[in-house]
Amino acid sequence: MSEIEDLLREDLRGQSPYGAPQLDVPVQLNTNENAYAIPEDVAAVVAEHIGRELRGLNRYPDRDAVALRTDLAAYLSRKGGGPDLTADHVWAANGSNEILQQLLQAFGGPGRTVLGFMPSYSMHPLLARGTSTGFVDAGRESDYTLTPGHVSWAIEAHDPDLVFLVSPNNPTGTALDAAVVEAAYETTRGIVVVDEAYAEFARDGAATALGLLAGRKRLVVTRTMSKAFAFAGARVGYLAADPELVEKLLLVRLPYHLSSITQAAARGALACAPRLQAEVDQLKHQRDRIVKNLRAKGLPVADSDANFVLVGGLRDAAAVWRAILDRGVLIRDVGLPGRLRITAGTEEETTALLDAFDTVLELRP
Ligand code: PMP
Repeated sequence: MSEIEDLLREDLRGQSPYGAPQLDVPVQLNTNENAYAIPEDVAAVVAEHIGRELRGLNRYPDRDAVALRTDLAAYLSRKGGGPDLTADHVWAANGSNEILQQLLQAFGGPGRTVLGFMPSYSMHPLLARGTSTGFVDAGRESDYTLTPGHVSWAIEAHDPDLVFLVSPNNPTGTALDAAVVEAAYETTRGIVVVDEAYAEFARDGAATALGLLAGRKRLVVTRTMSKAFAFAGARVGYLAADPELVEKLLLVRLPYHLSSITQAAARGALACAPRLQAEVDQLKHQRDRIVKNLRAKGLPVADSDANFVLVGGLRDAAAVWRAILDRGVLIRDVGLPGRLRITAGTEEETTALLDAFDTVLELRP
């Protein structure tokens, strides 16, 4: 063991960091980003918002990001599906990853546990590890769905301090029924976090946990601008919860954690929400096209409420991943036997993906 390894926290020794491959490939459909670049008119609005901040960069930003939180609350209220929210109900940070980390810092930590249901978002166990929170994986049904009965059973068995639910789930893509969130909330004494990073891509009628917030003080809904707002590079995530819970997060946030530039850029993008929704609708269309096309090839594909799909029925998923990469299309091997995850792209990218799948499946013995 090296001297540095020796000094490292015991629970981090020998571990690997998060590492989705970042390869320079013509068609990148592996990290569930929004395939569309920021449109010129939106870029102009964002640039104007950033421009107004530049001369004031000698000062620290608004520590509490009140203007941004007000805009986020208005966006969530406008979107519907939940109660009218104000800035007090909303918190923002550098990506929903930082939001989740702050929740673990405040409500998890040494000697405490978070309950998750894998396969799900791979960062959840890593964020737990980084904050010295125990991660308990209660698993899922064999088709990766989650039932209220299983969630309640797992909570009773493990008595966690936090429960992480993901809707739509990554990597399966399917939204949870409200009954699952309700069962979790009723069974646990802890904080229930519903990670809704992909909520804007849901099919009509899919539930959002925003509708359950009223009267549930321990319920948290996390969202991000990385996907629907095509803003992954800007790093803006947020949550909606009871104002008392939001206030507790101030105890663990770094002072001035969200730069003035980030706050301004996010407000610019939020002002263009209806314009960006047009691209979300296009991506939903391409997602449904992938589902239909792969099902027509006889491959099982889970229903998707996200901007990606999980395809199964592959005898050797790693070989299919490689063969598709050889055709210039990068998708994601999430380590599930016989399955691969594909992010919906632009129409041209999706055509390239489906063509690549066609040739690869033809080569199949
Ligand atoms: N939650 C889920 C389920 C995700 O898939 C992702 C990103 N892949 C995130 C949270 C984090 O997103 P960000 O930090 O960019 O907001």
